Amino acid sequence: MSAVKPIPFLDLKAQQARIAADLKPRIDAVLAHCIFILGPEVQELERQLAAFCGAKHCVAVSSGTDALQIAMMAEGIGRGDAVFLPAFTYTATAEVPLVLGATPVFVDVYPDTFQMDIAHLEQRIAEVREAGKLTPRAIVGVDLFGQPCDWDAIQAIAQREGLFTLDDCAQSFGAALHGSKLGTQADATATSFFPSKPLGGYGDGGALFTESDERAALYRSLRTHGEGAQRYEVIRTGMNGRLDTLQAAVLLSKLTVFQEELDARAKIAAIYSARLSNAVTVPVLVPDSTSAWAVYAILLPNGAARDALQASLKAAGVPSAIYYPRPLHHQPAYATAHDGAVLPVSEDLSTRIMALPLHPDLTDQDVDRICEAVLAAQG
Ligand SMILES: *Cc1c(COP(=O)(O)O)cnc(C)c1O
Repeated sequence: MSAVKPIPFLDLKAQQARIAADLKPRIDAVLAHCIFILGPEVQELERQLAAFCGAKHCVAVSSGTDALQIAMMAEGIGRGDAVFLPAFTYTATAEVPLVLGATPVFVDVYPDTFQMDIAHLEQRIAEVREAGKLTPRAIVGVDLFGQPCDWDAIQAIAQREGLFTLDDCAQSFGAALHGSKLGTQADATATSFFPSKPLGGYGDGGALFTESDERAALYRSLRTHGEGAQRYEVIRTGMNGRLDTLQAAVLLSKLTVFQEELDARAKIAAIYSARLSNAVTVPVLVPDSTSAWAVYAILLPNGAARDALQASLKAAGVPSAIYYPRPLHHQPAYATAHDGAVLPVSEDLSTRIMALPLHPDLTDQDVDRICEAVLAAQG
């Protein structure tokens, strides 16, 4: 095959060129005022993010992982506590309860939408109660790949069981359920501004959303070392969990084009699904929702078919990625915490799932080339 220019899996340079005229003055403004920590851009970003998703409070923090940690610290989650979460997600979701001394309890996912399996969640809560060793404390629902998980069901279970709900919305900020943007579905919502997320900064960053005044105040205290009403008054154990002012300035600029980018992602995903559904298993949409399309994941019949498709695409200059090659309960770091439950869907998905490039700077020609490469390989 002749050398073709590879399509980037993610194109942050093209995006930067689009927003350059808006971005540079915002960065210059921070360089001029030099309030690099909790400067005015951070408060402005919190206002705009809360307005964007309809949440009462937004607290900007240093990463998505720190957002999850602050939310769990605020509930006092720790030793002896069980935190229920899907096994098919990014490692941060399970890392945080472990760092706090709590135990992640892994739940399987649905084979079509890849979101947490609600019947299995109920089974896992019952198993933990029955065993009597851990106290069920929280459910972390992960909105995987851009789509919402089943928040109606999770909230009903949490209410019945007396559990705290945390939305790991790291991949899905901008998505909607029942016509409302994610950010208000759970007791608290955590998102990430890692550069490759739908709303990404130029470094690490994250945010917490909540309707609760008490929780918002706790989050603000925890992100600044457990600070009290007075500066240098330390009233609880906290952490350094603040978002930099420069990152806030970058994110304010990215927010000006965010909805357009979400629309562009959705358009590309619709083209993929229309053109590829006879060749590969395309993503199934969660009812009454919109996706932020962080990841466009397809399924192949088995691992050999996935390897073959990845190799053909690579030769055609089309990159692909695997999220996730191993479910978390099979990761060495979680071996001692895991109770040994078999999670067949997560285990199967990891062998045959793969992601196609999906970002707002793909041209019509790129999208066409990606579709043609998949069809040629599967034909
Ligand atoms: C990216 C991600 C995180 C962590 O976000 P960081 O900002 O990288 O710390 C947590 N959960 C999920 C599901 C993610 O995809």
